[in-house]
Amino acid sequence: MSTPAIEGWFTTGPEPALLASACTECGNLAFPAEREFCKNPACSGESFETRELSRRGTVWSYTDAQYQPPAPYIPAADPYVPFALAAVELPEGLVILGQLANGFGVNDVKVGSPVELVVETAWTDEDGEKTMWKWLPTRSDNEAEQESVK
Ligand SMILES: [Zn+2]
Repeated sequence: MSTPAIEGWFTTGPEPALLASACTECGNLAFPAEREFCKNPACSGESFETRELSRRGTVWSYTDAQYQPPAPYIPAADPYVPFALAAVELPEGLVILGQLANGFGVNDVKVGSPVELVVETAWTDEDGEKTMWKWLPTRSDNEAEQESVK
């Protein structure tokens, strides 16, 4: 069985999406979803709607995680395999940190590279597979065009 590693943060299926909260007073978006008080200092909103965020964004920054983080981080592989992390800016203006998809590293992205949200198995335990959102590097339309000209 496969279940999200964190309940309520993202949808699964062929077109997964991150779940943000939108303040019903001012529309301010928050991820992870806000449930108590609006983060907009000028707003006293306390009720929220759930919104799916854009599935595509651009790399805002990225790094390589060469050292195993401390508990409660659960390594996907033993021995530890370094992975790449990307902070991705979505059209909504939010910057969301996530791992790059399996098989991709820091050499596959640049600041401004297009990426798309995917859901992959993060680790497997006695309850089955736990899934997590990841950022899959994609080619921009521009790059695809240049490729077809060659
Ligand atoms: Zn608000």
